[in-house]
Amino acid sequence: MQQQFDQRLRDNLDELSSRKLLKIEQEIVSPQSAQINLRAMGEREVLNMCANNYLGLANHQALVRAAHAGLERHGFGMSSVRFICGTHSVHRALERRLSEYLRREDTILFGSCFDANTGLFEALLDEHDAVISDSLNHASIIDGVRLCKAKRLRYANNDMGELESALREARHCRTVLVVTDGVFSMDGIGANLPGICDLAKRYGALVMVDDSHAVGFIGPGGRGTPARHGLEDRVDILTGTLGKALGGASGGYVSGRAEIIAWLRQRARPYLFSNSLMPALCEASLAAIDLAEDAEDLREKLTARTFQLRRGLSNLGFQVSGSDHPIVPLITGDAAIAVQISDYFLALGILVVPFSYPVVPQGAARIRMQVSAAHSAEEIERVIFAFRSARTHLGAGSPRSGS
Ligand SMILES: *Cc1c(COP(=O)(O)O)cnc(C)c1O
Repeated sequence: MQQQFDQRLRDNLDELSSRKLLKIEQEIVSPQSAQINLRAMGEREVLNMCANNYLGLANHQALVRAAHAGLERHGFGMSSVRFICGTHSVHRALERRLSEYLRREDTILFGSCFDANTGLFEALLDEHDAVISDSLNHASIIDGVRLCKAKRLRYANNDMGELESALREARHCRTVLVVTDGVFSMDGIGANLPGICDLAKRYGALVMVDDSHAVGFIGPGGRGTPARHGLEDRVDILTGTLGKALGGASGGYVSGRAEIIAWLRQRARPYLFSNSLMPALCEASLAAIDLAEDAEDLREKLTARTFQLRRGLSNLGFQVSGSDHPIVPLITGDAAIAVQISDYFLALGILVVPFSYPVVPQGAARIRMQVSAAHSAEEIERVIFAFRSARTHLGAGSPRSGS
């Protein structure tokens, strides 16, 4: 039995390996930054084009200092979930700060945004309710929706016609919740929030936005996609992560009206049954929010570098998904081509990671780059130059080009 089981897993791994689909984890031996040192490259420095380090705060000294001070003051761990004896005053301070930043009544912290999304639906909705979800929503939303008993409806990415049909189909349900990513992470495109909020209002539905790939750097003050569209009042529930632009360590949250957050504290399973966040991490996150709120300069830099990369690639004739987000995906279709490009780039000292099934649909493999405010104009130019030379050297193996 045991041998058969292990053999089956080995066969699966061998099959992935032979198709070059095995995910390789590069070991970094430096702090996370625009330039990192990789063990596999003899600890040589490479340009990092795939971190969620949008504002370049992952190794910001103000965060490092805040975490150090937090360790000295609060010690290392809490050894408890929040409701037993794991609530430190810094947890509440961070929840209040996030609420103030995002202009919500209250906020609840989770170990990750994945946890926030898997805990939320089951706690708030039951078989009398319905949840309507965008087809490109993050895996954690898909799993969270699966865990809840509500009627489940799905609409094709940003398709307002399908969303309206779903709203009509769900009109007899007690509570209807429309849920979307603020930005779809594999494609770098934003949700049609004006369309969603209009329809939700018309059909009396609630709206939830997961703004993991927006908070800190999109919209006024970096307050995210609802703020960008002037729709903060129309979004009922916001989820997000501390693991991307806001310092990039870990942690997630749900923000919303007081009753929603109060109920999640009573019923969300990842909150009730999983350890509370390290206090030093919360201190650093407070510093990250302070920096992000006033980071107009970093946001301008991020926008400029993003346009530089997007324009450079489209001038070379490459098709890039999205229009202005620092997630810059280049669809290759074939997974082997994405791997080939990534290998070629690594040899040039640039880290770009190929994405294939099951992270993206079959036949939609891609190279997904992410621009950071920590990148210099010269570094972005290097990436564009590498694509120019990849096209020459890889010949038929070059990405799909368009007009
Ligand atoms: C990254 C991401 C998550 C997961 O966040 P973690 O805090 O790393 O668990 C959830 N939702 C979306 C949309 C994301 O992009």
